[in-house]
Amino acid sequence: MNKEKQRAVISADALPFNTEHYREWRRRQIMRMAVTYLAPLVILVVYFQYRYIGLEKDSHRVHLGTIAEHQANTLDLFMSERRVNLVNVVDHPRFSVQPLSEEMSDYLSDLRRASEAFVDIGFFDSAGVQLAYAGPHPSLESRNYRNEDWFTTLTSADDNCVITDVYLGFRQQLHFTIAVSRTVGDRFLILRATLDPWRMYEYIESQQMAGDATTYIVNRAGVYQLVEEELGRPLEECPVEVSSEETYGFGEVESDRGSLKYGFRWLRNTEWALIAQSAPGAESFFSTPQSRSVLVSAALLLVAVLVIFNRAGKLVAQQKEADQTRAQLEHAAKLASVGELASGIAHEINNPLAVITEEAGLLMDYTDPQFGHTLDEEDLRQRLGTIQKSAFRCRDITRKLLRFVRKTDFDLQEHDVHDIIDGVIDDLLGPEILVSSIGVERSYDGSLPKLRTDANQLQQVVLNIVNNASDAIGDGKGEIRITTSRRDNNVLISISDTGCGMTSDQLEKVFLPFFTTKEVGKGTGLGLSVSYGIVRGLGGEIEVESAKDIGTTFRLVLPFRQKR
Ligand code: ADP
Ligand code: MG
Repeated sequence: MNKEKQRAVISADALPFNTEHYREWRRRQIMRMAVTYLAPLVILVVYFQYRYIGLEKDSHRVHLGTIAEHQANTLDLFMSERRVNLVNVVDHPRFSVQPLSEEMSDYLSDLRRASEAFVDIGFFDSAGVQLAYAGPHPSLESRNYRNEDWFTTLTSADDNCVITDVYLGFRQQLHFTIAVSRTVGDRFLILRATLDPWRMYEYIESQQMAGDATTYIVNRAGVYQLVEEELGRPLEECPVEVSSEETYGFGEVESDRGSLKYGFRWLRNTEWALIAQSAPGAESFFSTPQSRSVLVSAALLLVAVLVIFNRAGKLVAQQKEADQTRAQLEHAAKLASVGELASGIAHEINNPLAVITEEAGLLMDYTDPQFGHTLDEEDLRQRLGTIQKSAFRCRDITRKLLRFVRKTDFDLQEHDVHDIIDGVIDDLLGPEILVSSIGVERSYDGSLPKLRTDANQLQQVVLNIVNNASDAIGDGKGEIRITTSRRDNNVLISISDTGCGMTSDQLEKVFLPFFTTKEVGKGTGLGLSVSYGIVRGLGGEIEVESAKDIGTTFRLVLPFRQKR
């Protein structure tokens, strides 16, 4: 139980970022991969889909057109044959100008042998009187047909054959008429037959190649001649308007079951158009090739999405592992630097402690009556002073160390950055600098706004850097130049000296705790590491530039206002 807990703490520690960070990172990876891989795929799929559907539409049109063409040819052939059947009757040498009823019946049975569509036949004179009749409606025998359309057309036109539209007529039954005329001697004669359109429809249906299409027939006036029950009834108005100008064509008609495509063709022998229309339901979404290609594309995209998610998951796992390794390395480095720190402290504190022990031992000897020393008060003061100095030095080191280790709280106030620098130069350093041969030059940017910072801490930093500068110049002549300026939303404090400068090797180590090039007792190597901690705590940065034997420049970059 305890072990479990410990392990959990360590592994959580080892990951430098929380789960939210990785979730965000994963989201970004997915976005990136979506843009690189998915976007082109989507464009490709949409393009092909568009092209494919266009192609499909065209081929569907062509298909309907072919059906209409084929059926129209069949129908034309049917009409020609029926006409020839009639012509054969009148042209037969046996045909008499005044046929008897039995002869008429024979003719009819001959015709019905050729086609079941024939219903009856009649024989007319030029006045429109039916002279002879055979068929199921003998009551019509002596009727006068003078005013019937087919009769007037036949008598007035040059054409000696007529095929009518479908109509009800005297018998109130759906039929249409084929009539042929002959002039025998001085007599004008007409033989006409009526046909059952449904028989004709059966005939074309039997030749059917329509498959998923419905076919029907309309006349020039847009009236159904023959039509399946679902669409309408003969002699009703047809919603499709077929162009009379073209012999064939395509179109689309709105129905209550959606828009339906059709192809049409006008017949040669009659004023009828044959229309092949895609059957409703034949275009149900899942059966069309378009939808199949949509489904395939969707599956393709789904696979791509799955691959991307899977890949993103793996990337996150890899990143986590890398972060973990890095965190472990950092942890190890920290441990190592703690070790260095400890040995540094030991080294630094050992000297003053040795002094204290030595002096304290001497004092003990002096005060031991066994040795009979006399205590010189001046000597005593001096030795105690040495002890105190060494103790102060120890305290100094531990203080700096504490500041380095502990996250100090800052006391943030509005300050003029120049007051802070002046405070260091004039009050803290003043006399020392004045007696040396070092010149301090200040050039300030007066337009800088106030800085929200911790004045004491910042003074500490400036003091450290100026002290280092004066150490670098040493006893010789030299100059320290302090300038302030603005960089974006930061104030830039630049402190340059004309001192000994640093090698690049030294430059790399200046901020490390206990790195010093100064003799024992002079430098602790903590000044810059402490300063670095303070400036980072204030939200700023320290930059350093140096050239051996020429000089060094430290730059403090501090935000006017700290981001929270
Ligand atoms: P210390 O001053 O106690 O040595 P610091 O951390 O202040 O410790 O400085 C570390 C080291 O960096 C110094 O010992 C010195 O070698 C180098 N250094 C710092 N500032 C300067 C400078 N202005 N010119 C040359 N060397 C410098
Ligand atoms: Mg220093």
